[in-house]
Amino acid sequence: AYVNGVFVAADADGAVVPLEDRGHLFGDGVYEVVRVYGGRPFLLAWHLERLAHSLAAIGLANPHSDAEWTSLIEQAVAQSGAAEATVYWQVTRGTAPRAHTFPDVQPAVTMVVRPWTAPPAPRAATLLCLPDERWANAWVKSINLLPNVIAKENARRAGADEALLVRSGAITEGAASNLFVVHQGVLYTHPANRYILAGITRRFVLGLAHDLGIPVREVAWPLAELAAADEVFLTGTTTEVLAVDRILAYEADLPSLHQLGEERPRGLVGRDGPLVTL
Ligand code: PLP
Repeated sequence: AYVNGVFVAADADGAVVPLEDRGHLFGDGVYEVVRVYGGRPFLLAWHLERLAHSLAAIGLANPHSDAEWTSLIEQAVAQSGAAEATVYWQVTRGTAPRAHTFPDVQPAVTMVVRPWTAPPAPRAATLLCLPDERWANAWVKSINLLPNVIAKENARRAGADEALLVRSGAITEGAASNLFVVHQGVLYTHPANRYILAGITRRFVLGLAHDLGIPVREVAWPLAELAAADEVFLTGTTTEVLAVDRILAYEADLPSLHQLGEERPRGLVGRDGPLVTL
């Protein structure tokens, strides 16, 4: 791990966050996750580009140049000794007595490298549709992930692998992934506007589609038309590209937050079983 200029073991005494770090107090920070394949961070330049956008969005000066970030990440990976890994790093607004307005302090940078163990076997995912209850700046890779955490937990409790978030009748993305629909030879995915995180893997897949001459439309796919999809898949840094074979319904009038307290989320899985079986 890396904590404000020092490399330490992730579980070492020194690898701690100060009590008044604004990430800890307010979720006042942004993050990135990159996958390391064969010792090399994949698509790091795109992650650094997105990090710069996220930092600018929350009014936080980028503490490092891209060259410095690259060097820090490469050093962290080398020190971990892991060739297959993920690197999680975040920048918070720093440590200061609790007050909502921005303090005049240095941002805090922390990083953790974790060895990556591949999931058991290639498989297809089950999704659970849920209302997209996030703020309207989902394009910022903010460390405020409470709605995503709750959606994913509701999905897990319903026996699904990922939540499929729905805003105003249209599918935005997963709780931690982007969604693609294949329909009559055309690839559809939500436009990279404020309502989704513009995934690096999404960008990579769109590039592959372009190279292969596969037509792409960046428009939101309506929930009501999911059954018409020929294929559905997810993309993400750790998800990679994952086929979807089952999508469970939710009842639109049920708020999702309070359901966490229940033994099994009442009404989350459609009364009539899966909405779509692909
Ligand atoms: N959407 C959300 C909400 C995410 O949290 C993530 C990744 O964590 C993604 C999409 C996929 O983005 P990427 O491909 O950059 O990992």
